[in-house]
Amino acid sequence: MKIKLPISSNARWVVSALQESGYEACIVGGAIRDLLLDRTPKDFDIGCSATPEEVRQLFGRRNARIIGKRFRLTHVTVKGELFEVSTFRKAPAETEQHGRVNSDEDENAENLIVSDNSWGSAVEDAWRRDFTVNALFYDPVREELYDHTGMGLEDIKSQTVRAIGEPALRFEEDPVRMLRALKLVGQFGFTLDSATENALFAKLELLKLASPSRLALELEKIFGSCCGDRHLRAFHDYGLLEYFLPELNHAWDTPPMDRALDLLYERNCRLDEGRYRNSVSLAMACVALPFVEEEMGIEPGTPIPQKKCQAVVSRVLERIFLPLHMMVRLNLSAEKILTLQTIFDQGKCPQELYSSRSYPNARELKIIRSAVDGGDPEQTDKEWPLPAAVNHLRRPGASKGGFRKRSRKPKITEKSAE
Ligand code: ATP
Ligand code: MG
Repeated sequence: MKIKLPISSNARWVVSALQESGYEACIVGGAIRDLLLDRTPKDFDIGCSATPEEVRQLFGRRNARIIGKRFRLTHVTVKGELFEVSTFRKAPAETEQHGRVNSDEDENAENLIVSDNSWGSAVEDAWRRDFTVNALFYDPVREELYDHTGMGLEDIKSQTVRAIGEPALRFEEDPVRMLRALKLVGQFGFTLDSATENALFAKLELLKLASPSRLALELEKIFGSCCGDRHLRAFHDYGLLEYFLPELNHAWDTPPMDRALDLLYERNCRLDEGRYRNSVSLAMACVALPFVEEEMGIEPGTPIPQKKCQAVVSRVLERIFLPLHMMVRLNLSAEKILTLQTIFDQGKCPQELYSSRSYPNARELKIIRSAVDGGDPEQTDKEWPLPAAVNHLRRPGASKGGFRKRSRKPKITEKSAE
């Protein structure tokens, strides 16, 4: 179908560089879904017929880096914008790609995919994707939209999450897909089609088999978005939170959990309005704060005493997030944001704190607390200065480096990337 979609000029340039070198290439996945829903995509993923090595060869080692093992792809950077360029794949064959990962005994693990690197055609690639709404391809050069499963566009219109293929098997192959289905429910208010929903209820427990590092990456994405509170609600409503963040699930419908969702919501609104930059550890701190207050035995919204704060904060964060092992670094940074609250609450901030890396995030949490606790966030904003050197609106991961001109391949120059 012919259609003009607003694709980033750098993404279009990567696609056209691949095509000019004789490969098939297009924009794939979430970005096309988002654009058709009239939303701004957070990034553009590119699918192509070139292998990761060929992609690296084309864009040069400086701009292209191969990553991943289970799913190998290439990160291509053009003028500071990062693109995931993946090779078209077919569904893994029923051989060595399936196996047991986390469990030696669990028979449910036999369909788990442990490697997904068999190259295929664009059509095969669409069919091995998770949901029809995520399987739309767009060629920005020809301005052509491809709906290879034949259901993607219809499902976007009716706001339906439909697993591609046999839903139960797709969830057995990769239990993280269940979490991804519910992210679409939380983020866009989509509903699951009945076969997908039944399979999800039947297979929820398999989430235990998912690798903690993949779950941690999903959690980073959830807290790095401005709808993490909605995602958590969808996970809870479908019973998935029990297998993802059990501590929050057990606390559901209690006053600290309600307050955690309020704080997270306020942070999300401020992020959405561009009032503060995206910080995953700040989102984690918002969620953890009410449980810190509870464990310290203080009324929500009252000043946090310094005594024992550090120990309680670290215990609470560990309880909530550490089942997902990879969160250690983020936990430490959330810990700083939370313990610094005690200094704000004393009303005086020592000069050296202004230069602390955690100061801007801690200050932002103080503002969020004022907003949620009926204080005056504008006043808090004025009261605590933001060091001039800190760009608190900076988007995370925005690199300063641009696309570098390579002498070996004169065809791809910085100029042509404009
Ligand atoms: P987001 O807005 O969160 O980035 P997304 O759909 O783009 O949403 P990505 O994790 O960036 O999510 O994945 C890109 C695309 O890769 C998806 O749209 C989907 O087509 C495919 N995909 C991702 N994870 C899986 C999976 N576990 N199984 C099958 N296909 C997947
Ligand atoms: Mg994406």
